[in-house]
Order: sequence, then structure tokens, then C-alpha cells
Amino acid sequence: MKNVFCIGELLIDFVAEKQGNDLSKATNFSKKAGGAPANVASAISKLEGNSYFIGCVGNDPFGTFLMNTLKNYRVDVSLAQRSNTFTTLAFVSLAEDGERDFVFSRGADKELTHDPNLKSRFKDQILHFGAATSFLGGQLEETYSRYFQEAILSDSFISFDPNFRTDLWKGTEDVFVQKCLPFIKKSHLCKFSLEEAQLISGKDNIEDACTYLHGLGTKIITVTLGGEGTYLSSPTHKKIIPSIKVNPVDTTGAGDAFIGCLLKQISQVKEVDTLFSESAILEKMVEQANKAGAITTMNYGAIESLPDQTQLDKA
Ligand code: ATP
Repeated sequence: MKNVFCIGELLIDFVAEKQGNDLSKATNFSKKAGGAPANVASAISKLEGNSYFIGCVGNDPFGTFLMNTLKNYRVDVSLAQRSNTFTTLAFVSLAEDGERDFVFSRGADKELTHDPNLKSRFKDQILHFGAATSFLGGQLEETYSRYFQEAILSDSFISFDPNFRTDLWKGTEDVFVQKCLPFIKKSHLCKFSLEEAQLISGKDNIEDACTYLHGLGTKIITVTLGGEGTYLSSPTHKKIIPSIKVNPVDTTGAGDAFIGCLLKQISQVKEVDTLFSESAILEKMVEQANKAGAITTMNYGAIESLPDQTQLDKA
């Protein structure tokens, strides 16, 4: 089984307990571990894969909480860094008009420094670039790009999830799109939400969007469609793979569970080139990944709701 290195942010989500309040009125908040790449690493480990988290948290109690959370999920955090800057914090609430109210206090995640010794460990392994904060500047942006270049040179299997956040890019969406392009060009697998596929391609129709995105370079595209399942676009597929029926209560982290489950399965494939030519394999993997996403919606929270292998087998 290959190792999966997940690079990006790990942060605290302070979620307002009483929804329907904007942040100016919210009084009680629950402390949750957040950060898409950290969720993906946890999803992989919970399914008994080998995952590493590469990111930076503060040398403060929140950083300790986050490191302990990942360790409890058996994620290898030996490559994670701590800095003297405070841990990155996000405060989230659902305002009365149904819109998400969001305040972001960026700290240690941006300070991830490049470790030249990791290059040799990437050889023939899997790297997942899924940071929502990676294109927001700071040392992280440079480190992210350097690891990406090293992944290309190391013959790693590269996975990319742009993790677009409206709250972070309002009014500068075009900058975000430009920053994604080199990653889409050289990644073997890209995971998009429908909104991301449309934003980056400038096309409304899903097939047109995928044609454009394949044209940039990537071979396998998954467009996650919530309860509808996933549109899989690859050399052998252009179709929606349906999900299972569930009663969702909170969709946070479904996309991370999906890509985590897909990468765990890919980590067990000896010859990844077969993914590009043998149609049945990829389809079965996406079916499983859909289940992982669906199960995650059945409970509140992201990391807390990720399925283990037994839950996945039963679904
Ligand atoms: P995120 O919101 O975590 O950034 P996302 O928008 O990519 O991610 P979704 O499309 O909500 O994620 O979900 C990922 C996958 O989980 C879907 O492709 C689907 O297979 C499964 N899934 C999500 N919601 C449901 C649901 N209500 N019923 C069944 N399956 C679901």
C-alpha cells in the first residue's frame, strides 16, 4: 500500500451552537478540528490506509488539540510543523437569512516551510493537494508549489482539490482560477464540486466543463453532486455514478470523505496506469467513495462522521 501525503491546512472551526444567528449575536461556539487536507488524511487512516499530514499549527493549546485529534485517527503527523504564531481559527455561523457568516483569523497554517528531505519519500507515492488556504499567500503558497514540483519529478500520483471558498475569494475569483490552472495541468486526478468545475472552466454544462478541464491536462475528473452522486469523467467514463440513499443532517466533510476514500483505494493499486484504461475499476472505486461521502452526511461534524471500513462495507 502506498503512502498518501496530504498537504495544507489544519485549523480550528468555531461553530456557533445556535444557528440562525449571525456572528455579531452568537455567544456559544463549539471547537472542532477543521481543514480539508486534514479531513482527507483522517478519512484515509480511518479506512486503514497510510496517511501523512503536512501542515503547520501553532505552538498553543489549539495546535495541541489538533495534533492529538489527528493522532487519534492514526494520521502520521511526524511531518507536521508547529510555529510560534497562533493556530489558524475560523468562526462560522448560519445567519438568519440562511447565509453563512464567517470570520477567518489566519495564523500558523500560512507558515509551513519546505523540507528538502521529503522529496525522496514522495517517490511513487500519492500526494494530495487540497488546501483551501494554499493560494492565499504566506510561506504555505511557496511550499505548496515546491512540493507540487517535487511530486511531478518523483513520479508520484497527484490529486488536486481546489477547495474554493466563497468567503475567502469574494471579488477575486479570477485570481483563484489562475492559481488553480498549473495544478489541474499536472494532476492525475482532480476533484471538483459542480460550482468549482463551472467557475474554473467558465462552462455551465458539466460535460463541456470536463472537456475544458481535461484539455488543461488532468486525466481523471470527479465532480461531486451531493445526493445525486458523482460525475466521473475519464478516458473510459463520462457518466454520473449514483450515490446511496441516506437522510443527511450535515454535509460538512462529505467531499473530503469522498476523495479520502478514493485515494485510499488508489493507494492499493500497484499499476496506477490501469485506472486510465480499465473502466470497471475506477467506477467501483467511485461507488465506494460515494458511500463514504453519504455516510459522513448522516451525523454532525466532518472529522467525527467519517466512516470506518465496517460501516462502508455495510452500506
Ligand atoms: P464539501 O462540501 O465537503 O467541500 P463537496 O461539495 O464536494 O464537498 P458533496 O457533493 O456534498 O461534497 O458530497 C461528496 C459526495 O458525497 C457526493 O459526490 C455523494 O457521492 C456523497 N453525498 C453527499 N451528500 C449526499 C446525500 N445527501 N446523499 C447521498 N450521497 C451524498
